[in-house]
Amino acid sequence: MIRRGPRQASQSWDDPQMMLSVDEARARILSAFSPLQPVTLPLLDALGLVLAEDIQSPINIPPFRNSAMDGFALRAGDTVPATPASPLTFAVRGEIAAGQAPSSALAPGTAMRIMTGAPLPQGADAVVRFEEVIEHDTTMGDRILISRAARVAENVREAGEDVVAGMTVVTAGTAISPMLVGLLAAIGRSTVRVVRRPIVAILSTGDEVVDAGVDLGPAQIRNSNGPMLAALARQFGAEPRQLGIALDSEAAIRERLSASGEADLLVTSGGVSVGDFDVVKQVLQRDGRIDLWQVRMKPGKPLAFGSLGTTPLLGLPGNPAAAAVAFSQFGRPAIRTMLGLSRVAPRIVRARLDTAIENRGNRRHFVRGVIRIEQNDRVVRPAGSGKGGALSGLAEANCFIIVPEDCERALSDECVDVELFEDTSLEQLG
Ligand code: AMP
Ligand code: MG
Repeated sequence: MIRRGPRQASQSWDDPQMMLSVDEARARILSAFSPLQPVTLPLLDALGLVLAEDIQSPINIPPFRNSAMDGFALRAGDTVPATPASPLTFAVRGEIAAGQAPSSALAPGTAMRIMTGAPLPQGADAVVRFEEVIEHDTTMGDRILISRAARVAENVREAGEDVVAGMTVVTAGTAISPMLVGLLAAIGRSTVRVVRRPIVAILSTGDEVVDAGVDLGPAQIRNSNGPMLAALARQFGAEPRQLGIALDSEAAIRERLSASGEADLLVTSGGVSVGDFDVVKQVLQRDGRIDLWQVRMKPGKPLAFGSLGTTPLLGLPGNPAAAAVAFSQFGRPAIRTMLGLSRVAPRIVRARLDTAIENRGNRRHFVRGVIRIEQNDRVVRPAGSGKGGALSGLAEANCFIIVPEDCERALSDECVDVELFEDTSLEQLG
């Protein structure tokens, strides 16, 4: 990695030394957020959300003593001293299926056929698997030959062996995983108290921006930020609300923002470049509060943060790559904070760079990257053409390669920090 030399101090607005660092900007933004209030939801709808209660089990798991195998329930003491050379014979008295209560206790010296999950009859303390038993029908009825001594508790699941009634199975603050849904279902829960999902309202601004379905005029572009930011918001765990597109006029922006309803976060895209944010700025100066920042990052340098009434507002740049990077750096941790998740920081792994990357301008460079696993080694390359705003490169990427502020050039073959996208799992990297 080639580090930058010391720089001359300067007071210019565009001087990186005068800008907010990514971490300072994130800390200021996050100070405006805290976990939202809890709601009661059906178990499946709570997947990925954070528990707002400690949960005790009202029952034992398993609720009763049962067989771990298909086989014969018997008393271990009765099988001594069976050996392959001199097996012991047991009469089989009945059968217990899963879901059936035994109709009688086990008579001494006999066995009962039993299925996995069926309750053990009174008097039995072991189960010998079918595979280990020789069965034969005689005129005397069903009989089995046991050729070794069974151990007490062999193939028996004790009541409460997994969970004891009254025990706390999970504490508040835990995110609900599919397997936790299974445990909660096992103790009889169908609903849980969880921190509710934040509502994130998204507004695109720009006289040139139009939605799909409308003919594209000679100087117009499609609104890609609106749907992309809504998709990211959903992936980050929020419930997106699309407010559509506002023309670059105060009245249009005010009207669209007034439709944001009970949003927990407002996100705008476009018009945050210096001198260019006046309309949104005017709306927010009157109806709320707004700060315009220059953040030491690339892309995504211009950023606005404020509030409309009491609702926080994040103003992202219009360039789609910049909007994606800035929303990942600032919107994602805000959403995760509102969700009550403990891990708010990005998912960083180290990977070997397969091409050198230049970093002019003394800013943290988030390069759209493609990470993969090659012979047990994580390797990363820049996605697409690397040109700012290239949507195709953004769509191909599964991570951001992070080139630090003080690094002028990251070299080919060196290890760098890589921020994985939300849906990039190790399995996908293979
Ligand atoms: P701005 O931040 O408004 O100066 O916009 C920067 C660039 O992003 C311009 O080329 C805009 O046309 C483009 N842009 C702004 N909003 C959107 C949007 N919603 N979807 C796609 N591109 C946009
Ligand atoms: Mg604009």
